[in-house]
Amino acid sequence: MKNILLLGATGSIGDSVLRVIEQNSEVLNLYGIACNSNVGKASEIIKKFSPNYTFIDDPKAYESIKNALPRKNTLHSEQDLMNLINDVNVDIIISAIVGFAGLKTSFMAVNAGKTVLVANKESIVAAGDILMPLAKKRGAKIIPIDSEHNAIFQCLPSDKSTKDVDKIIITASGGPFLDIPLTKLTNITPKEALNHPNWEMGSKISVDSATLVNKCLELIEARYLFDLNEKFFKLVVHPQSIIHSIVTYIDGSSISQMSNPSMEVPIANALGGIKKIPISFKELDFSNLELTFKEFPSDRSRLEKLAREICNTGGSSGLVFNAANEIAVDYFLKNHIKFSQIYDVIYRTFDSIPLSKPKDLETLNELNNEARIEAKKVIKSIT
Ligand code: NAD
Ligand code: MG
Repeated sequence: MKNILLLGATGSIGDSVLRVIEQNSEVLNLYGIACNSNVGKASEIIKKFSPNYTFIDDPKAYESIKNALPRKNTLHSEQDLMNLINDVNVDIIISAIVGFAGLKTSFMAVNAGKTVLVANKESIVAAGDILMPLAKKRGAKIIPIDSEHNAIFQCLPSDKSTKDVDKIIITASGGPFLDIPLTKLTNITPKEALNHPNWEMGSKISVDSATLVNKCLELIEARYLFDLNEKFFKLVVHPQSIIHSIVTYIDGSSISQMSNPSMEVPIANALGGIKKIPISFKELDFSNLELTFKEFPSDRSRLEKLAREICNTGGSSGLVFNAANEIAVDYFLKNHIKFSQIYDVIYRTFDSIPLSKPKDLETLNELNNEARIEAKKVIKSIT
């Protein structure tokens, strides 16, 4: 039996993880959950899975639920969260909190030397230079569950060596505005941006998919997870979202991972490891399968160029990019800026912040606050 601590349990990834656990209850046990404020959903999860511990980050939400649950098992303080992450009974930690908010727990999980299944790409983008060496030092095992990275992980040899890799293609669905030029996207509404054709996801990543910032975050994520220069990675649009990435080797073979778009597949793969676990899944119909590919849109080449620059620069560059994007997406979702202005906020914030080489979590938090303030200033200046 593997004990799982699910951080971000009430979100979209949380839902997928719970469905995989439910189908494998004889080998997977939900030991603990963490969420921000959705106590309604947390209560449902508690009722169904009876986890030993529940951490609620939001103070009001914690106050509202704590009396309804066993007191000693309902946690709110940072120390309690740290103790839970370090609990010897926890075998696997799933990092599925959205955004920079997931960084603190990513650090704790890696520092605890645990097996960490990472969905929270923002923490890798913002702190890859510190997190990846820390994982090595502490013996933490990082397994990606972002579908593209999990695909790459599956296509690599069992020792995860990349020495014979010639190229890695990261596929992109193209999002809801596939084939629509950027010049025609200025007045897109949040509702339109949230309507992804292939994937059901939380609102932040859905907007990231619509802007294609998600693919750029994923490029940076991949550069850190697989410790390869950005030159090895190519972004290619694949509208059907069936091939989740492709690894081409120096001997000319290309290996890909295929499945219908469902996050349960990479999650089941990561939770099972070499011992596969069964889930119900929609089979691919190979007798009637259309797979098409096209170049990453040239009107987003500035964005891709910036992501590649970040891959090469490291330090605080990913953090600034991520912070600017998080603020821009938040303001867009609240109808305060236009869709096209998300890019302006990213570029202008990035240009106005001097880059540095943060060494610890405290500095990362400070820099993140500064970048967010700068992004808000940029928004003020363009609205
Ligand atoms: P979501 O918005 O649906 O859920 C976010 C979760 O994070 C919620 O459970 C929320 O309570 C929790 N949370 C937020 N702030 C928190 C805090 N301070 N403390 C504790 N919990 C907190 O988001 P999602 O779509 O599930 O995405 C989660 C992460 O996974 C993101 O980093 C996203 O980029 C990544 N990801 C998601 C998908 C997908 O299909 N949804 C695919 C690949 C990667
Ligand atoms: Mg992805």
